[in-house]
Amino acid sequence: MTNLFDTGVAVSLPQVLDVKEYLAHRQQEILTNHPNESLLSFRLNIPGPIKTNDALVQVFDHFQNQFIQVLTAQQHPFVIEERQTNPAGDWLLLRVQTPPLTLKTIGTQLEEASDLSRLCDFDVLYLKDQQLTSVHRTEIGHAKRQCLICHETAKVCSRSRRHSVLEMQTKINQLVQQFLLTQK
Ligand SMILES: [Zn+2]
Repeated sequence: MTNLFDTGVAVSLPQVLDVKEYLAHRQQEILTNHPNESLLSFRLNIPGPIKTNDALVQVFDHFQNQFIQVLTAQQHPFVIEERQTNPAGDWLLLRVQTPPLTLKTIGTQLEEASDLSRLCDFDVLYLKDQQLTSVHRTEIGHAKRQCLICHETAKVCSRSRRHSVLEMQTKINQLVQQFLLTQK
């Protein structure tokens, strides 16, 4: 493969927003049925119109497996509620019987384990006074997510559009190509 972003279906902003809305609905629904559990909502952060393809599904599955391995090793009971491949980006909804801060710690440690794993977004949700609430990295003593390209926080760079989509794709392509070599 020469460039990761040569394959895949380009999606529009409304498609991306539809998925976000759907996920918020499902997250609320799952936690309403299991109010004392935590929910992992896993996606990859892929900027630009191509959000998934065979190689990115491979990356996704790799990190999904890693997360599940940690849960199994630490004996946190879990249920896979939903695993979808979608042009707007894949997702996993995993319900876990463990406190949200514990789950967020596992996710953040995995996110920070390598450059490639920084593509992962392990969002942890729970119900606080019946409201869908997300755990922030700062609540578990971690710094905010760092940009893939520079040393600024990711939010600052994405808000100011400091890096072009092409620049981000070039970096991601590099990381994924390296990963694919290790998978053969
Ligand atoms: Zn940056």
